[in-house]
Amino acid sequence: MSDAPSKPALDGVETASTLDAVIVGAGFAGLYMLHRLRGLGFSARVYEAGSGVGGTWFWNRYPGARCDVESLEYSYSFSEELEREWQWTERYASQPEILRYLNHVAERFDLKRDIQFETRVTAAIFDETANCWTIHTDRGDRVSAKFCIMATGCLSAAKVPGFKGLEIFHGKWYHTGHWPQEGVDFTGQRVGVIGTGSSAIQSVPIIAGQASHLFVFQRTPNFSVPAHNGPLSPEVIEDWNEHHAEYRHRDRTSAFGINFEMSTKSALEVSPEERQRAYEERWRRGGFSVVGAFADLIFNKEANDTAAEFVRSKIRAIVRDSAVAETLAPRDYPLATKRICVDTGYYATFNRDNVTLVDVRVTPIEEITATGLRASNAEYTLDSIVFATGFDAMTGALCNIDIRGRGGAALKRKWSEGPRTYLGIMVAGFPNLFTITGPGSPSVLSNMVLSIEQHVNWIADCLAYLREHQFANIEATVNAENDWVAHVNEVANFTLFPLANSWYMGANIPGKPHVFMPYIGGVGVYRQKCDKIAAEGYKGFALSAPGS
Ligand code: FAD
Ligand code: NAP
Repeated sequence: MSDAPSKPALDGVETASTLDAVIVGAGFAGLYMLHRLRGLGFSARVYEAGSGVGGTWFWNRYPGARCDVESLEYSYSFSEELEREWQWTERYASQPEILRYLNHVAERFDLKRDIQFETRVTAAIFDETANCWTIHTDRGDRVSAKFCIMATGCLSAAKVPGFKGLEIFHGKWYHTGHWPQEGVDFTGQRVGVIGTGSSAIQSVPIIAGQASHLFVFQRTPNFSVPAHNGPLSPEVIEDWNEHHAEYRHRDRTSAFGINFEMSTKSALEVSPEERQRAYEERWRRGGFSVVGAFADLIFNKEANDTAAEFVRSKIRAIVRDSAVAETLAPRDYPLATKRICVDTGYYATFNRDNVTLVDVRVTPIEEITATGLRASNAEYTLDSIVFATGFDAMTGALCNIDIRGRGGAALKRKWSEGPRTYLGIMVAGFPNLFTITGPGSPSVLSNMVLSIEQHVNWIADCLAYLREHQFANIEATVNAENDWVAHVNEVANFTLFPLANSWYMGANIPGKPHVFMPYIGGVGVYRQKCDKIAAEGYKGFALSAPGS
């Protein structure tokens, strides 16, 4: 469609080249997007802030990091050859294994030659006269492209809370989402982990095994279920090799994009004994399956209470000190309305003599000091602090870029009261800008690799359609966007999700509007909607010819 990309810019040097597409980010989304566009003959360049591919799996190298969707499903399905040649070793792959996989993908499909690493996109400005996007980077590149595709990740903008005193701390501190590539050895140290979300729940058991003493600073306890991780047996692998086409189809048409056997019964219609049996059976199976034990767990608070109480009873059974067990037991939001955690030995870690749980709801952190951390009732001497404090999720990475659409309007401003998109893919007023797994799509509520593939395929097909029909622009209409935002909210309000102060709601970032950001209508239903809209000539989008 246009000339090949020019050479990457050196520090401070500006280049001007015209590409069909710029893709921002080289995680699961950016890599596959590049592969698809190349296959269609479009010129494309990827800009990636990190020094390698992998996105989440490049940055999150903290001890114990691994997926919580099973490896066989948490992987690309677009290439039969890739599917056959890659062998996962564990039920839930570790971060190094997933990173190896993504490097293998990048090499196998020769992707790295079109990726410029260690380059952060700082601005993307739509030029209405030239009808293209101008992309600026922190290395001085200035590149124009017809299409700008954000593959910037939903959980890539790491958040360190603004505690007073961090700059005077004499020890070392880390955020789980920016872990040093060389790793960290906590042997013999006094370590503080702040946060008890999925990242903490995976890392705490391992850090506890190294540290002389570990303090876990908990604000809100989380529900966690056992992973029962282990090597994949030859039988499981053989079954997957034989049936994966069928399994992938099942996942694509499901609610969450994973093999999630959903009971059709209400938790309230069965006897207490039957309910207990169902929960025990799911607990033995491990992973997210407990949420599918009954059909109404995410819709009905009373039903949800039965599952929440079951998990609390498990915590009490595992943790010997009853006061610690009660502190670890979540009570103030329904099960699964914050992302449920999948752990290996998390609760049992609190039986160790070298682990102390500090409830910062009762004794808030007041400041970081030169030697550690001061809470309202005590001072903790620490050699290292681990911030497992999460991300400015879904909108953070996008709003960190100065994105300007028609009339110079800023995306950040448009989203100041919460994100507004059509399908989570496009935004009215921002022609030819796409967001992979953007807010308003199933995204973080699903097996994300599957949702990424769906978005990438939809976008690639859309670009091919525009070329075939000689349209220069595609843009969401305001009406379609309004209707979609209303639908996303309506569906969310049908569930218990809005009851939790979760990152899905933007509640973890001070000042961020409280809006439920992902689409909970289900990945199968959502896919059908997207396909229907495309089949109807991109209903709800305005398509225009060059110069019009
Ligand atoms: P990312 O992998 O986040 O990649 C985005 C890339 O964009 C990053 O490399 C970033 O450096 C780059 N970038 C961002 N902004 C810029 C910029 N301005 N300029 C240049 N580059 C930029 N999901 C699941 O479904 N199952 C799981 O088991 C699971 N486990 C997870 C574990 C952890 C620890 C975390 C943090 C998330 C997990 N997720 C999981 C969600 C995970 O983020 C997605 O599954 C998936 O990896 C996202 O891929 P992506 O390419 O969309 O984004
Ligand atoms: P998170 O779920 O947002 O957890 C952050 C934790 O830090 C919470 O416990 C939070 O408490 C606490 N916190 C934040 N600010 C604080 C403050 N100022 N003082 C005290 N505590 C504070 O982040 P995460 O654990 O990194 O996980 C984010 C998401 O990434 C997950 O939900 C999941 O989708 C994905 N992930 C998946 C895996 C996996 O198992 N594969 C692993 C890691 C991450 P509050 O709850 O009170 O805000």
